[in-house]
Amino acid sequence: MSSLFIPPPACLLRPLEVPHRYLFGPGPSNVSPRVQASGARQMIGHLHREMLEIMDDIKKGIQYAFQTQNSMTIAISGSGHTAMECALFNTVEPGDSVLIAVNGIWGERAAEIADRIGARVNTIVKLPGGYFTNEEIEQALYEHKPVLFFLTHGESSSGVVHPLDGIGELCHNQNCLFLVDAVASLGGSPIVMDKQGIDVLYTASQKVLSSPPGTAPISFSEGACKKIFNRKTKPVSFLLDMSWLANYWGCDGKPARMYHHTGPISGLFALRESLAALSEMGLEKSWTQHNKIAEHLHKGLESLGLKLFVQEKSLRLPTITTIAVPPGYDWREIIGYIMKHHNIEISGGLGSSSGMVLRIGLMGYNCNQANADMVLMALRDALKHCHKSKV
Ligand code: PMP
Repeated sequence: MSSLFIPPPACLLRPLEVPHRYLFGPGPSNVSPRVQASGARQMIGHLHREMLEIMDDIKKGIQYAFQTQNSMTIAISGSGHTAMECALFNTVEPGDSVLIAVNGIWGERAAEIADRIGARVNTIVKLPGGYFTNEEIEQALYEHKPVLFFLTHGESSSGVVHPLDGIGELCHNQNCLFLVDAVASLGGSPIVMDKQGIDVLYTASQKVLSSPPGTAPISFSEGACKKIFNRKTKPVSFLLDMSWLANYWGCDGKPARMYHHTGPISGLFALRESLAALSEMGLEKSWTQHNKIAEHLHKGLESLGLKLFVQEKSLRLPTITTIAVPPGYDWREIIGYIMKHHNIEISGGLGSSSGMVLRIGLMGYNCNQANADMVLMALRDALKHCHKSKV
């Protein structure tokens, strides 16, 4: 007789069940067999010589994917939000003025995080689907004199890819750092960190990189490092403190790496393989592929009578397409039908785009014509079978 009064849960005595599903929503994406296999390798120690070499490979892969020579380039242990917090926690001190561009949920989240740090948060705001001109940004920089400007490159909630050219220069003219969220766009839409004068750039593993969620590449320019390493106060998070992480990732020039935390070793194996796959394919080819498949999808959607949410072609995010919810239909019924009958995930809107759009993501490993055709067929079927109100 056991002395324990809580028995082992019956559910855990059954085998793990994970269905196969086509992940054509805004993320995570399906993982290639090669990346899956790398994540299933046996454990090694997080500070073993071989692990440090794998981390060095990852660093080079991120430098390639970001097009940067920044030595302060690492992968955060955590999701895109963790990288977002790392970026803001390290570059912003309480009382600092920050400027956040809000044209969907990610600007809202950045503003929330900056507010929690005790920053003076100023926003410029557009409705979902909107973007900011360089003149509007310059005017706001002049007005608020921020230490940092946050912009989302790929707004996954609205399907907008934001132009980046010239903004870094505007920020630097005002002595301001330029922080860009490229979680939903990196690898699928051109972004050239050093040339575009981006000071902090981050992404996440589970979208175009098609790795499991849980690691998040990030890079800091020299200007960003100057601010980070001359702070008056310590960053509020120990786990995300770049002075510790710089040492863990061998970016501080010190010969010895100290224990800081135990990184997600299997996730790093997978991230290395995703970056290897991107390197083999070539970044430019990956950009072209995402564009080509997005255009094919857009044409197919229009021939089904659907309306793309983002009117201007050049502002359409190639990785995640937003469709205006077709009049008379319930968006929940459409995504439920497609999941039930086609085993495909697509998604509704998020935050302020909720109820307005359907979102289809074809990223990285999933970005091919067969998948685009599969989701088009599923949508055609859903439009035929889902209830359409007459009003
Ligand atoms: N930024 C953008 C643009 C995103 O699309 C997402 C994820 N949907 C995030 C940040 C947050 O990433 P995560 O869910 O990995 O925390």
